Amino acid sequence: MAREQNKSAYDPGEIDTKRISRIRRMLLTWFDRQKRDLPWRRTRDPYAVWLSEMMLQQTQVATVIPYYEKFMAQFPTVGRLADADLEDVLRLWSGLGYYARARNLHRAAQTVAAEHGGVFPATVDGLRALPGIGAYTAGAVASIAFGKKAPVVDGNVARVLARLFEINADVRDGVGLKLTWKIAGRMLPNKRCGDFNQAVMELGATVCLPKGAARCSACPLQSECQGFASGTVSELPIKTRKTAVKNETHVVVAIERRGQWLVVRRPKQGLWGGLWEMPTAVLNGEPTFTLARRLAADFSSIPVNIERKPFCTLKHQLSHRSITFVGHVCHLKRPVAGIGPKKPGKWLRLNELDGLGLSTAMRNVFFALRKTVEKSNGRAAGNATKCKKKVTS
Ligand code: SF4
Repeated sequence: MAREQNKSAYDPGEIDTKRISRIRRMLLTWFDRQKRDLPWRRTRDPYAVWLSEMMLQQTQVATVIPYYEKFMAQFPTVGRLADADLEDVLRLWSGLGYYARARNLHRAAQTVAAEHGGVFPATVDGLRALPGIGAYTAGAVASIAFGKKAPVVDGNVARVLARLFEINADVRDGVGLKLTWKIAGRMLPNKRCGDFNQAVMELGATVCLPKGAARCSACPLQSECQGFASGTVSELPIKTRKTAVKNETHVVVAIERRGQWLVVRRPKQGLWGGLWEMPTAVLNGEPTFTLARRLAADFSSIPVNIERKPFCTLKHQLSHRSITFVGHVCHLKRPVAGIGPKKPGKWLRLNELDGLGLSTAMRNVFFALRKTVEKSNGRAAGNATKCKKKVTS
């Protein structure tokens, strides 16, 4: 629920020291008993901790586990990751989303290998100098892997602190965000900082859940929680602005050449950078079919017939974008074997896509295409049988 924020809401220095000690003790005792057994919690290897933290950004634990295990099996050290082709890293990351993380992962591994002799910097500043490592990831790696007294604030931590101390400011940015970092720093014990940080995150992920789902009756901090005492849990953290969601339509052309389909690579930077796709463009006012025609002419070196009826209209939701994919099948007018595309790309059969780095959205578009192709092949086979019957009867 949106409500007014009070910019002078809190002075972290005024939080009672005894209360902080109680909260630390309660939380660490609870964490020792209740923490989930997660693969990256069985090690202090900074590489493993960093890899897990990069994967966990914006992504659920259950989704991350198989990816983490695959990565550790294929690239067990930062040196092995640094030596890998970006293409292989993106392929293994395929489906996890937010692909800039995979590109940064690769660049950071190369920096650690080239500039730090394959050893991770042990300080927050040293870690922050690596590509893709912000304040949160640096704090997490420094505290968990190196035992440094470094705070962390992510969405889970911010929510717990906003409720625990009834913070009357939007904790997503500006004054409210700065305040949560200060409080998180003040809360840290002298020992077991990594465990303490993980305990707050664990509480946010499993007990102090977003919106109306907080499980206060199971919370070890209930007796210390100001939000619970004043009955404002469901209003916290406060939101003073709504996150704007942009609606976009992406037109996809599935260009077919004798049972093979044209796939091209997205530009390295930006959304789904470096991943493969069928030629795609963002609709900007013109009719969908007009853009499909222009797109096909841009990518195909010989003219095409475009099917008017789209083979898919699929919605894909990202945090700040709602994208509708509209796909049209295009057949080359002269399907000559060996003809190349106008721009760099390759022709592949639908059963040859496994080795490609694809976004989940494009994987769904290919899935819809496969269904359409199977349906039309089934129809063609049915018609052929009917014809045969006519001829033989
Ligand atoms: Fe969160 Fe409820 Fe625990 Fe307070 S008592 S920290 S609101 S789960």
